[in-house]
Amino acid sequence: MTAATKPPAACLIGWPAAHSRSPLIHHYWLRTLGIEGGYVIEAVPPEDFAVFVRRLSTHGFVGANVTLPHKERALALSTPDARARAVGAANTLWYEAGELRATNTDVEGFINNLDACASGWDKATDALVLGAGGAARAVVFGLIERGIKHVHLANRTIERANALADQFGASVHPVAWDAIGELLPRAGLLVNTTSLGMRGQPALELDVGRLAADALVADLVYVPLETPLLAEARARGLKAADGLGMLLHQAVRGFELWFGQRPEVTSELRTMVEADLKKS
Ligand code: NAP
Repeated sequence: MTAATKPPAACLIGWPAAHSRSPLIHHYWLRTLGIEGGYVIEAVPPEDFAVFVRRLSTHGFVGANVTLPHKERALALSTPDARARAVGAANTLWYEAGELRATNTDVEGFINNLDACASGWDKATDALVLGAGGAARAVVFGLIERGIKHVHLANRTIERANALADQFGASVHPVAWDAIGELLPRAGLLVNTTSLGMRGQPALELDVGRLAADALVADLVYVPLETPLLAEARARGLKAADGLGMLLHQAVRGFELWFGQRPEVTSELRTMVEADLKKS
């Protein structure tokens, strides 16, 4: 088979990268859509990343996902779109007219998952976002893009929330970590982007009973699938959106860019990835 007739393939570049569920997701879509293509893991150390990315097509790839610790450097080595620039990190690379482009699909992964879990959530005027790390940047960008008027941003280290507000403008209001309780009653959407609630980490301590009855609670953490925050929200009858939903939705765009068909996040795919997560 010549290079021209070889089926298209994409890869995940990380260091380490072995734990990723991305191959499971993309292989499911390739199989169910009947597309001849591939998706493999490429463990690339930081010192080799630039050379690897510059030669991505020579290695036979039509594009790539990029994960830790390479997401920031991927920006500098490509032509990023507005989302990747605003978030300050790229997780998806593809070629457009011979040029290596980059985007950050966490933005649409987060927003599309909210749409799938609780359509109409964007009628909320106030959102409360906890955390000011890399994931929070994608969440805040998505909420502003979607027209949420007030994004209250609480972070343990307030300086990081201030810096994010400086970058994203007047609709982002930094708040002290101990002011979370006061803000809960007016938040139509609560989002945890911290690592609290992750397996091996302390739970996020807050009283979801102070949220309005129609509030939506979203957690980016997906190990465990049902975090203590989501369990408590559901027990109180609140709507909930979990981190696995975001992970699945963020994979859609890369697949479409590389293989030319927009795949769907089906319940069968979700069940398969859930089963795999439960093994770990
Ligand atoms: P990060 O850049 O390291 O940021 C971590 C955040 O958690 C910071 O705001 C940090 O606050 C806060 N934090 C950590 N320990 C804390 C504690 N004990 N008390 C209060 N706050 C604490 O990480 P990230 O990349 O943003 O990822 C955050 C989480 O989102 C991870 O669990 C990750 O797996 C998840 N995530 C999920 C998806 C998905 O598709 N579902 C996508 C991206 C990320 P300080 O600034 O004070 O340190």
